[in-house]
Amino acid sequence: MCDSFKLCISNVGILILCMLSCSPLFAEQKAMLDNAVILQYHHVADNTPAITSTRPDVFAEHMAYLAEHFHVMPLKSIVEALQAGQPLPDKAIAITFDDGYANILTNAHPVMRQYDFPYTVFINPPAIGVAGNQLTWDEVSMMDAQGADFANHTLDHLHLLNRLTSESDEAWLARVITNIEEAESQLADKVGYSLKYIAYPFGEFNTEVKHALLERGYVGFAQFSGGVANFSDFGAIPRFPAGGRYANLKTLKTKMASLAFPVIDNSITDPVVTTDMPADMTLTLNNRDFYMSMVSCFWQGERMETTRNGNVLTVPLPEKFPTGRSRINCTVPSKEHTGRFYWYSQPFFKARADGSFPD
Ligand SMILES: [Zn+2]
Repeated sequence: MCDSFKLCISNVGILILCMLSCSPLFAEQKAMLDNAVILQYHHVADNTPAITSTRPDVFAEHMAYLAEHFHVMPLKSIVEALQAGQPLPDKAIAITFDDGYANILTNAHPVMRQYDFPYTVFINPPAIGVAGNQLTWDEVSMMDAQGADFANHTLDHLHLLNRLTSESDEAWLARVITNIEEAESQLADKVGYSLKYIAYPFGEFNTEVKHALLERGYVGFAQFSGGVANFSDFGAIPRFPAGGRYANLKTLKTKMASLAFPVIDNSITDPVVTTDMPADMTLTLNNRDFYMSMVSCFWQGERMETTRNGNVLTVPLPEKFPTGRSRINCTVPSKEHTGRFYWYSQPFFKARADGSFPD
């Protein structure tokens, strides 16, 4: 039964509205609001590269804020609930760390223990206990026993999209998938479970690798803005970076509370920039809970001139993309959830002239 039925029968005046809201279509749209956000950290330290670091005092401030206002949940619980179309508590959020740095144990783990927060660390298994700045396997076991999960970040943090000299498409895909499967196998040997969660190194992926991983039962995690919902692409789940220039809690608060943008269709299906890019990106939106006129899209900090036709938004693509990673972000305020924004990000990856991708 529609969960607002009791409220409906208590007020005859809004019966018609209620009948509409109890329709299967509305129920479906309402379920789509089941939502979560995933944060991505790297270093938690004050003596590591600023661009990927969150200072320990700032990290503690983030967690104190989450403890007061959010439901911090295991990544696995969030992914499984969303995939099964089950509801999540409002403001569900997961915390992830990439790269397995030792400072996660030193500076983040005690804070997570303080609040009893679960978290997930994406690691390169062959680097654990080998590279000087990495966790050891004993530390991984201890953290695992105390609320952390460990997942796949490839064997060697390769740029997935880089090709070897004269490598065919088939050989490239086979090499990349073998790398990820081998990392998963090494991880499973050590921690005793296999989540099949892969965080793409540098956040880079393309349609082929995403589909190949989905076929093999993996969930892929990227690094771009947006909430996650049951309609999200589970081959490239957005995560909000929370380090470097994104660590400021003032701006991060809005992202923590963001909602997954209900994009029904996107004309851009592959994030890799080619020589024959279309002139526009066309987004078909489920605009039940926002005004189309209030959708704003941004490119490199500048607001873009978009056009709309019904629930279709046309966003002109830049004439020239920078080498490396860039993205178009679109946001719009929710009508129902005051002060919260739907947030969507379309990443673009452009290779250098020699075909390789920069760090
Ligand atoms: Zn990484």
